[in-house]
Amino acid sequence: MKFNTSLLHSSTPGDKFGATQTPIYQVSAFSLDSAEHLEKVFANKAAGFAYTRIGNPTVDAFEKRIAALEGGIGAVACSSGMSAVTMGLLNVLRAGDEVIAGSGLFGGTIDLFGDLSQFGITTRFIDTVTADSVKSRINEHTRAVFAELIGNPKLDIVDIKSVAAVCHENGVPLFIDSTTATPYLIHPFEYGADIVIHSASKYINGGGNSIAGMIIDSGRFKWDTARYPAFAEYGKFGRFAYLAKLRGGIWRNVGACLSPFNAYMCSVGLETLGVRMERICDNAKKLAEYLRTLDGVTVNYPALEDSPYYPLVQSQLGGKGGAILTVRAGSRERAFALINALKYALIATNIGDVRTLVIHPASTIYLHATEQQRESAGVYDDTIRVSVGIEDIEDLTEDFGNAVKASQEH
Ligand SMILES: *Cc1c(COP(=O)(O)O)cnc(C)c1O
Repeated sequence: MKFNTSLLHSSTPGDKFGATQTPIYQVSAFSLDSAEHLEKVFANKAAGFAYTRIGNPTVDAFEKRIAALEGGIGAVACSSGMSAVTMGLLNVLRAGDEVIAGSGLFGGTIDLFGDLSQFGITTRFIDTVTADSVKSRINEHTRAVFAELIGNPKLDIVDIKSVAAVCHENGVPLFIDSTTATPYLIHPFEYGADIVIHSASKYINGGGNSIAGMIIDSGRFKWDTARYPAFAEYGKFGRFAYLAKLRGGIWRNVGACLSPFNAYMCSVGLETLGVRMERICDNAKKLAEYLRTLDGVTVNYPALEDSPYYPLVQSQLGGKGGAILTVRAGSRERAFALINALKYALIATNIGDVRTLVIHPASTIYLHATEQQRESAGVYDDTIRVSVGIEDIEDLTEDFGNAVKASQEH
């Protein structure tokens, strides 16, 4: 099966009425036929559901779809992308540990690493995540390397294969936040990533109607109990150790579960991921090429031939550059004027919607970041981030053309 067919036909709901989607099981608890049965479900000795914080059929169906799509051995859904990042990392980290992370990360993730420092977890930021930069930062305390495949909003691209090789030589897993790439552009496990994270709120949902996150495990990383002592009691789960620890531990106990309703919305959205990505990557490329011809603005889009990431777009992402581009308007005033002059693009802090969205990151997502953090994330005073939607490209180019012209009057 090819991508779009498999989205629809790789798993069936198995519903007794023949429902074409797994329905929304909007309940907190499931009653079982005997005390013995419930005991078995609690002890993971019988399949079944007991309580929605721990498991729910609608959420389970969504998890299975994503795990299959990414080629992982299993997935755990979370209440948001941020909770997926947090739970995914905290499942392997403890006080005294260090993480190596790219400095061009999503603002919320940068803020999270600040919060984790309160718990004795130190993050070493590197400007760009390459084999060499990771090698120079890795030490005996490093327990995870974290990178965004296509940095949001820096739009830098990680060469997963070479970075994973350095991680594995040092016994450290590579976490890849693949939100902006999506399984349509790449399956990071095929290049050596160990854990993949998605904010499903974005492209997977596609309609901007639910917050959700997902953690997927390749099942290939060997959790050496000398470096990861908390994995000792999970050795019996073999390659499912990471997922068993997550489900039985921090994820369950923090209560980071996804609601059945949001799982349903994301699962429905997922079915059109392929057609949406095809369209929005195409729109983004055309819009980037058009903006490049205009005076007064510069554009950053990885699939443009003069981008330093163009070769990785070809080798890793099948020639597609994703659906985010950034524009520099010359000054903060011009950036604001450009944003305010747009007719169709909505001013909103989101990506991956079917509608085109724009934001001025420096005054919003990076409001709490230092000047230096902003610059290393590719966020300048005049930067506008555009999340390209499925509108007709002629309308988008006309809208942006007029807005650029209007901004030049400032
Ligand atoms: C949005 C986003 C997140 C956080 O996801 P939420 O669902 O908003 O919590 C994490 N990583 C990236 C790359 C994102 O774009």
